[in-house]
Amino acid sequence: MEHWRISLANSLKDPEELLGRFEIDPEPLRKVAQRYPMRITPHYLSLILEVGDPIWRQCVPDPLELEDDQSADPLDEERLSPVPGIIHRYPDRVVWLISNTCAVYCRFCMRKRSVGCAGGTPLPSSFDQPLAYIAGNREIRDVILSGGDPLLLPDDVLDDILSRLREIDHVEIIRIGSRVPVTMPERVTPALCRMLQKHHPLYLNTQFNHPREITLESAAACAKLADAGIPLGNQTVLLRGVNDEPAVMKSLMQKLLAIRVRPYYIHQMDLVRGTGHFRTGVQRGIGIMEGLRGHTSGLATPYYVIDLPGGKGKVPILPEYVRREEGRLLVRNYLGEEEEYPDIGEEG
Ligand SMILES: *Cc1c(COP(=O)(O)O)cnc(C)c1O
Ligand code: SF4
Repeated sequence: MEHWRISLANSLKDPEELLGRFEIDPEPLRKVAQRYPMRITPHYLSLILEVGDPIWRQCVPDPLELEDDQSADPLDEERLSPVPGIIHRYPDRVVWLISNTCAVYCRFCMRKRSVGCAGGTPLPSSFDQPLAYIAGNREIRDVILSGGDPLLLPDDVLDDILSRLREIDHVEIIRIGSRVPVTMPERVTPALCRMLQKHHPLYLNTQFNHPREITLESAAACAKLADAGIPLGNQTVLLRGVNDEPAVMKSLMQKLLAIRVRPYYIHQMDLVRGTGHFRTGVQRGIGIMEGLRGHTSGLATPYYVIDLPGGKGKVPILPEYVRREEGRLLVRNYLGEEEEYPDIGEEG
């Protein structure tokens, strides 16, 4: 059996298993885990230093999850789904959900309604219908494989999906969204990388949310992927009590660059049922962006985006650096100094 399969088998699924290491009352957590499953890999468990720390908060069930009554699908992903498994919101790209399990079940997951849940939306048993949809829509040039975590599929199944996508002429790029470099880095094997690199141009976006998630093991996983020629990006979720401090976020972004992962997005939390206790105000995100731009490498500065409810799309939210006053253009730099920029007028 592959090492990562053993890791999955050895993962914690019952909050009672935390008892040997931490002094907690598992009973209220078990109730939560019955509704929204728990899974913590040995690697991710080893990153927890104490109850309630930024790693703990991301993976251990919290009774607050059951008290929250926001929408289960605020982004209307199910309405925007032309065939099961495909979300088609933008003209030239689709998300294809090819897996509904993950190595670790993030407590703040935007697809909490379906990922890992026995009662959630099952995945289609065959890949024919989504592939036919993509093949039949010539405007689709970018396919984002998501889930769940696509890298929980066996190599041969992934190889088959990627090969069949590559047979479609108009599919220019393929992206994989996966958290295994963070949560189960042993999944990134030389065999996986050899298979993936047959399908270029292939991109992989992962999700590091805290500097402590950058370990020797996760760095090695990213190095293998990068050495296979796969450009790596990171989509961080802005999480209360995890990474909502400018210094934490700056350290995370800098460390990502050092392991060849380019910060791509910081996501404002979606309004998803069971995740409200992770939400921060938008002003907090804006403050974090002000703490990055100019203070560190531009490469370490991602876009802060809100995914608008109702499937209206991702919108970048920027601090206000520019204002007009009586025909003058005033521009503020990262130190807060305002300069007048000699702008010229534009017709029309
Ligand atoms: C986020 C997302 C995409 C990809 O957006 P990019 O800004 O191109 O990374 C595509 N489709 C859906 C439905 C999405 O949620
Ligand atoms: S890895 Fe992604 S899909 Fe899986 S639980 Fe975490 S946020 Fe959700």
